Formats: sequence, C-alpha cells, structure tokens
Amino acid sequence: MTRVEQDAQSAEIYPSADAWVVEDDKVFLIGSRCPQCGKHAFPPANFCDNCGNSAGMEAAKLSNAGKLYSFSEVHVAPKVLTTPYVLGYVDFPEDVRVLGQVEHTAAELQVDEPVEVVLGVIRHSADGQPVMSYKFRKREEG
Ligand SMILES: [Zn+2]
Repeated sequence: MTRVEQDAQSAEIYPSADAWVVEDDKVFLIGSRCPQCGKHAFPPANFCDNCGNSAGMEAAKLSNAGKLYSFSEVHVAPKVLTTPYVLGYVDFPEDVRVLGQVEHTAAELQVDEPVEVVLGVIRHSADGQPVMSYKFRKREEG
C-alpha cells in the first residue's frame, strides 16, 4: 500500500472519494464532459454552460497535470487551516480551470509552471482529524 493510500484510509475525505481516482500512484480528478459539445467541467456539472445541454453529462477523467494559471499565498484563515498556504488555479489540457491548494510557498512558484495533481492534507476537522483532498505540486522532471 502506498503512503497516499494509507493516508486516504485514515483521514476524512473532501469533497468526496468520487472526486478523483489513483492509478499507478498518479491522481486524476473526475469531472464531467458534455456528450453534445465535449466541454469538460470540474467539479462535475449538471448542465453544459457552453451549449446549454441539460440532458446529462458523462463522467470524465481529467489529465494528471496542468499549468499553474495564478496563485496567492493565504495568511489569514479559519483555525482549521494552517497558514500560510497557497491557493492556485490550474488550467488542465481539457480546458478546465481548477482551484486548489498548492504544496509550495508562493516564492517557489511561477505562473505557467507545470503542476500535477496529488493527494494531501488540506486542513483539520474541528476535532483535529486530517482532511484529505486533491492538491497541486510542481511536476517532477522526467
Ligand atoms: Zn455542451
């Protein structure tokens, strides 16, 4: 069992374990895809904001990596979050922009940098349990 799988077994999951899949230790977000026009969304959408289709979206696995569009270091947050932390928007090849925590300080990051999806602790619940979710990390070379 990998470290990620061990953490995922003991921690609370946000938003839900359906939000991603882990394959070969890589994390893939599960969004939606419009069967009429092909537009992707994350989190999954109930209707398409591109073509107006509301007859049902299909589940779609996004790429494991994208490009950091923008980011900001957060210094003031509720007690359950450890500050400072970095929030970033990541653009995926499927033309979806996803907001999430980034596992670096702002000084270590650059706009347009390649990042990959990982799992990690994003905060703690009121009773101190770790809460796991997807995060972003600089893509390792090779
Ligand atoms: Zn559509």
